[in-house]
Amino acid sequence: MSSADAGGSPSGFAATLLAWYDAHGRHDLPWQHPRTPYRVWVSEVMLQQTRVQTVLGYFERFLARFPELPALAAAPEDDVLALWSGLGYYRRARHLHHAARLCVERHGGELPDRLDALAALPGIGRSTAAAILAQAHGQRVAILDGNVKRVLARLTGEAGWPGQPVVERRLWAEAEARLPQQRIADYTQALMDFGATLCTPRRPRCGDCPVQAGCHAFATGRVALLPTRKPAKPMPTRQARMLVLRDTQGRVLLERREGKAVWQGLWSLPEAADEAGAEGLRAALGAGPGRSLPAFDHAFSHYRLEVQASLHAVREPAPGGMEAAATGIPADAAAPATGMPADAAARAAERRWVARTDYDSLGLPRPIRRLLESLP
Ligand code: SF4
Repeated sequence: MSSADAGGSPSGFAATLLAWYDAHGRHDLPWQHPRTPYRVWVSEVMLQQTRVQTVLGYFERFLARFPELPALAAAPEDDVLALWSGLGYYRRARHLHHAARLCVERHGGELPDRLDALAALPGIGRSTAAAILAQAHGQRVAILDGNVKRVLARLTGEAGWPGQPVVERRLWAEAEARLPQQRIADYTQALMDFGATLCTPRRPRCGDCPVQAGCHAFATGRVALLPTRKPAKPMPTRQARMLVLRDTQGRVLLERREGKAVWQGLWSLPEAADEAGAEGLRAALGAGPGRSLPAFDHAFSHYRLEVQASLHAVREPAPGGMEAAATGIPADAAAPATGMPADAAARAAERRWVARTDYDSLGLPRPIRRLLESLP
């Protein structure tokens, strides 16, 4: 099927989409006013895997703390992760921070305005780079994020899974063929809005769709089948035992995770892979027997983690305040080599006693925060 027949001619598609955007698109998103490269970049990274409604509050707080790229580059990683806390996919935040530092070192504190230079920065793929250039500079480049892949697969009837390189190449060609000559920034936002609000993954509103007449999936009754799903692979499960050590002041012992494990750089609980490992860790940390807390699980993108936690009262107040928050226990020394998580590179770089009032100042994974806030 040619691109000219699907979804109308390429130029017709863009004109129709822009008219729809003028009437129904989102014109008051905070990163649109002003639409600077830095603001668009932060919003694009936050919007990967996350809905606009969720991102709004995070974006405002992030920009209030880091209004310009050099402020982000100069910040400690803990501050960046604390503001990202709850958004998930923390690698995005670490990449954003690292890329900001590279921009200061190599590009005079600005994001480069060339596709190849942008896409060479950590966490910026071809589509994100194009979104920044199109929206902040009006450059005539195509985006192809998950939303756009879905829209184009339905419009053209592309039947392969969009993660396959050959399918992706065809969708890039479609995306490029449909670019208008004018209003690239609006067109880019229009595509995103169209995918997010109308041609949605489930129950798209085909009855209200301005390009329905040119939609191959609609004409052939295959809307629910496109885009083709990724071939299913069973999700592996891993176990973890976590220890909640609480001192007489109500503070809990947290450790910053290092290595290549998930939640890298975030603050979590001392953790082992099994009961024996947890016993060794408890002894090394000088805690007595505890009581079990309700088990919970958490889905990462590549595995499911099942967690059993236990609460241990530490009778003597821990030394030092939040500042000198070190426990006096060398993190690595206290972590036994056996029974630690298998992937794990999950080693603690540093441990601290943390009061409930200080949770906001640290990057805490959402399930850990939920567990701490539910403690009796
Ligand atoms: Fe998407 Fe339905 Fe419009 Fe086709 S007709 S583009 S499936 S909303």
